[in-house]
Amino acid sequence: MSGSLVVGLCQSCRWMRRVVPRRGGTFFRCGRAETDSRFVRYPRLPVLECVGYETSPASSLASEEPLLD
Ligand code: SF4
Repeated sequence: MSGSLVVGLCQSCRWMRRVVPRRGGTFFRCGRAETDSRFVRYPRLPVLECVGYETSPASSLASEEPLLD
């Protein structure tokens, strides 16, 4: 199964922020959740429908942030 099938719309959304914890694994955080209560910070994947979806101008997986734990 490809990553886009697992993650769904967030994979190519400009609001998606990939979080890579030092302990391993990957989390997908919704940037819209910071300012809009309709969105959850870590949506249940795969996201198949979303009113906030906007196509990323570049690969959405380019945005990585270390998770401080
Ligand atoms: S706006 Fe929707 S599609 Fe985009 S990152 Fe947030 S939950 Fe995913």
